[in-house]
Amino acid sequence: MRSGRLFRYGEMGADQNDVAVLEQEFAALVARRYCVAVNSGGAALCLALKVLDVQPGDPVLVNGFTLAPVPGAILHAGARPVLVEIGADYVIDCDDLRRRARASGARILLLSHMRGHIADMDAVMGTCDELGLVLVEDCAHALCAKWGGRAIGTFGEAAAFSAQTYKHLNAGEGGFLALDNADRAARAILHSGSYMLHGQHLSAPGPDVIAGWEERTPNFSMRMTALAAALLRPQLRDLPRRVARWNAIHDRIASAIARSQHVRLPPRSPRQRYSATSVQFSLLGFTDGEIAAMLDRCAARGLPIKWFGAGRQRGFTSAPRHWRYAGDQGAMQQTHAILAGLCDIRTPLSLTDEDCDLVAEILREAIETIVSTRAEAGETGRARTG
Ligand SMILES: *Cc1c(COP(=O)(O)O)cnc(C)c1O
Repeated sequence: MRSGRLFRYGEMGADQNDVAVLEQEFAALVARRYCVAVNSGGAALCLALKVLDVQPGDPVLVNGFTLAPVPGAILHAGARPVLVEIGADYVIDCDDLRRRARASGARILLLSHMRGHIADMDAVMGTCDELGLVLVEDCAHALCAKWGGRAIGTFGEAAAFSAQTYKHLNAGEGGFLALDNADRAARAILHSGSYMLHGQHLSAPGPDVIAGWEERTPNFSMRMTALAAALLRPQLRDLPRRVARWNAIHDRIASAIARSQHVRLPPRSPRQRYSATSVQFSLLGFTDGEIAAMLDRCAARGLPIKWFGAGRQRGFTSAPRHWRYAGDQGAMQQTHAILAGLCDIRTPLSLTDEDCDLVAEILREAIETIVSTRAEAGETGRARTG
């Protein structure tokens, strides 16, 4: 702050270049050869598609349970989202993936590990091989997650991460693209806006590789600031402790609410190791009105819960039917049926064990209240007609 060097590149050199060091540290953390730090997770996704040569109008497959910046990144790259249904475990349905890949002729799958729910990566990779699909991973909720011992973010050709406030790392804004291919890394550096100062990168291919792309690669100005990197570097070191605590918070709340017969938690394969910063659950047999009333009761007690089945998009929460800009996707019936009962509780690290128990208690009381109101109404109804 005192030096005023908030831009990642210095005209007089790059001493104290936190962004370059952070890129090296992040690449090591996620086990990829190169990392390019950018200004958002959405920008990292867009860059991933650009360096994979996505052309205007190209179809790009993406699972329908994701956050709006994901179809947004596909459109930003000039391509066309093709949404794929999810199953009851909230992750991509590989049968529908097969259908939509064949129908669209898509070459790329952007797999969003939404809210840290990890698909069966053996099945996904098998399907990608079968169909010749190139995989890009959206790891905005999957930093430090694993499948069968292998780090999420190392399955695809490229992986995008976010450092926006509500993710595992918080710089307010920020993102990372992680990948192994030297030419694609060179192109990502140039696209991100390196002003011919790419010699100041530490996680980068050699200057000859970059030189080959210089005049063919436009500057999109998607850089990370030095200030964001300075905020992120200490958080990176603290990440293992944070992930352990986040998972403990998740497990405590999830196991308490799973005891309700009106709630279903998605099955999780023992092969996945998640790193949860939120808890998701499905309400069983509730009408939209009942869910809205139940969430109002929780909100009145200070517990905000998001609902993917809400009629209108709100805050971070939306569903395929709200993304009219993505073009006609058909009804997406299976996904919307699952999202209709899907609720979401954000779990900040500041929650104590007592807070977790209180969260579960507020939720279970609200559910019981709605269910007993329904039972009384049913009895009154029967009494009247009887
Ligand atoms: C947050 C998020 C992104 C995008 O991150 P930004 O840094 O906000 O652009 C992408 N995918 C998912 C699933 C996210 O939650």
